[in-house]
Amino acid sequence: MVDAQHPPEVDRAAASRKAVEARRARASVKRDLTTRVVTPQEVLRRAEADPTSAAGTLRVPDFLTALPAIGQSKRDRILEQLGISPVKRLGGLGVRQRASLREWLDARMPEPEPRPQRSRLLVMAGPTAVGKGTVAAHIKEHHPEILLSVSATTRAPRPGEVDGEHYYFVDDETFDAMIASGELLEYATVHNRHRYGTPRAPIEKALREGRTVLLEIDLQGARQVREAAADAALVFLLPPSWDELVQRLVGRGTEDAEERARRLKTARRELAAQHEFDYRVVNADVAEAAREVAALAH
Ligand code: 5GP
Repeated sequence: MVDAQHPPEVDRAAASRKAVEARRARASVKRDLTTRVVTPQEVLRRAEADPTSAAGTLRVPDFLTALPAIGQSKRDRILEQLGISPVKRLGGLGVRQRASLREWLDARMPEPEPRPQRSRLLVMAGPTAVGKGTVAAHIKEHHPEILLSVSATTRAPRPGEVDGEHYYFVDDETFDAMIASGELLEYATVHNRHRYGTPRAPIEKALREGRTVLLEIDLQGARQVREAAADAALVFLLPPSWDELVQRLVGRGTEDAEERARRLKTARRELAAQHEFDYRVVNADVAEAAREVAALAH
């Protein structure tokens, strides 16, 4: 007979493994909140849909302090104001408590609303290692009607990269000359290192011909295009989670530790700017993300 008070060794080991896993999953949700990979409202929705999920079992105080700019004393004031006990978990909130928390979040950190605007000039940006290049390559292969802009860069080609196809690899003097002659629609120094810019002429030609153009550029470039072409549609590509983004960056193995740290810092900053974009697309599956981006074209 099984004694509920004293479960056999194997059960206890399995239970503690499960507890460790659950804690890890909750820590992952907290990182997603801190880095803004998910909105707090989305986590609240997940908690309601499944109270036993990582979101559902997250304690409300932990949820609050994971949000940007909320410390412990602010957290305590919020809990008191909303009438929520600090032992409550997100999935265990009453209807009224959930509504007041939701209202509080909407007032302070509203979720970005998609602007229903299609355009023939699509700009795709997103944090480093989110897979912009892969999604862009997929679109290039499956949507030949869309022109993928080829940027100029001062960085050296990586193995397998072809000049004129992946980038125009140019030296500093050439890049300076391109800026001076107004050849670039936008340009920026990315990751504090190399310069990248979008040649204007091929884009204007394609747009004149009625084609759709896709730019895969960094955040600074996206902002410049917004200034230069107000009707451009800006798409922000999101990772399924912060941990997945870190995994992709490490897995790529093309950068050393210092460069990886620099890129992760940039990624955090970039994620914080997603509200400037018209659309957000989660890159969990490359083909699906590519389909969603391509569907934004006229
Ligand atoms: P990579 O060196 O890995 O090919 O690209 C580094 C970053 O440069 C990526 O985030 C990419 O989006 C960005 N990038 C590539 N081309 C351009 C461009 O023409 N303009 C700007 N602003 N960023 C670019």
